Amino acid sequence: MKPPAFDYHRPETVDEATSLLDRLVDDEVKVLAGGQSLVPLMNFRLAVPQHLVDVNGVAELAGHAVTDGVLRLGALTRHHELETSPIVRAAAPLFTAAAPYVGHVQIRSMGTLGGSLAHADPAAELPSVVLALDATLVARSVRGERRIPAADFFITHFTTALEPDELLVAVEVPVARPRGGAAFLEVAARHGDFALAGAAAAVTVDADGVVTDARIACASVAATPVRVPAAEALLRGTAADPSVIAALEAAVAAALDPTPELKTSAAYKRRTAGVLAGRAVRQAWRTAQNDLTTTRNGQAA
Ligand SMILES: Cc1cc2nc3c(=O)[nH]c(=O)nc-3n(C[C@H](O)[C@H](O)[C@H](O)COP(=O)(O)OP(=O)(O)OC[C@H]3O[C@@H](n4cnc5c(N)ncnc54)[C@H](O)[C@@H]3O)c2cc1C
Repeated sequence: MKPPAFDYHRPETVDEATSLLDRLVDDEVKVLAGGQSLVPLMNFRLAVPQHLVDVNGVAELAGHAVTDGVLRLGALTRHHELETSPIVRAAAPLFTAAAPYVGHVQIRSMGTLGGSLAHADPAAELPSVVLALDATLVARSVRGERRIPAADFFITHFTTALEPDELLVAVEVPVARPRGGAAFLEVAARHGDFALAGAAAAVTVDADGVVTDARIACASVAATPVRVPAAEALLRGTAADPSVIAALEAAVAAALDPTPELKTSAAYKRRTAGVLAGRAVRQAWRTAQNDLTTTRNGQAA
């Protein structure tokens, strides 16, 4: 299927893009990034924008770098970059862990971080990552810049705090501390499909392997990604031993209130998310321990 006719705009700067959004906001305008969600929606006539503002030529939106302890990812950062960048792996390994679960490599080569977050599919992986990492989402419009905490960004299915004339320009996350580990796990019907349930975990441990910081967020269990502070609290001050993990799994399941879907009941999602969170935490903790072992060996040598 082909999309209905639309006017195509290709700005080269953020200012040009936001001016276009301002001018066309009452006229059904949409930002085009990787096109991996928007174009299928247009082909199925589920989205019928009169104007597309293609931001792929806006250099300010591309690239990623660490400055003063903060990793800044341009909105056009492709999923494949998240998966393969050594800078991202060192600064925010949870992105590296989650990105391979987004569709297939062709989709990851085109799809963007900004597009995934602005699209806000409840079954997407990356919204749960930015929530777990306490990311700040940076939006621009002709009115200026707005910095939105990830916790306030996702409103409900396919709906975010972005105004129709706002462009998501970047995502910022504090650089991971030493002795940290991260893991993302999901269950999907087939490889590359959206998650039926998923869990993101990041932990930091002290010199004795005791958890000092824990972040757990679940995907595809509600209208938005869900952070689980009760499970994080259970983990802090422990060495993530099996009894703690069992309690954590139960706490995650208890905290969720999923809507049943065609292929999955609410009970299935709740239980699966709990188990995935427990496994992701163990995996993250083991990685943090490996960091620790390296440090100890280094000191011993
Ligand atoms: C077969 C297939 C399988 C897929 N599987 C998965 C999966 O398993 N998990 C997953 O998470 N995703 C999956 N996707 C979707 C993919 O991740 C998309 O890349 C992503 O959802 C949207 O990113 P995009 O850059 O392609 O955005 P686009 O499709 O270009 O845009 C999506 C929406 O975001 C808006 N938008 C884009 N960029 C900005 C911006 N900077 N500021 C404001 N608004 C913006 C657009 O206007 C549009 O409304 C799949 C897609 C396909 C086709």
